Amino acid sequence: MVEESTLMLWLLIASVVLNLITMVFVIILFGRMRDLKRSLQQEPHAKGEGAAPKQAAPSTLGGIVFCRHCGTQHDSSEEVCPNCKTPR
Ligand SMILES: [Zn+2]
Repeated sequence: MVEESTLMLWLLIASVVLNLITMVFVIILFGRMRDLKRSLQQEPHAKGEGAAPKQAAPSTLGGIVFCRHCGTQHDSSEEVCPNCKTPR
């Protein structure tokens, strides 16, 4: 009976230790997730300002572009805006 109770005690200690290890891992993971989110939020802002939006917009829209001067929608094959003649 004495051996059985000590075994149960060791099992209890082992489970508590396992729980503590899991908790520490979760806390570390959450800290890393926060760092990742911060770095992901900061990087596009720094790159987006330097990148040229003129070239990104026509490729995503697929043929149709918006004039950056007056906002008129026209085909990407047209080099100038049909409304205000602003080169794109
Ligand atoms: Zn225009």
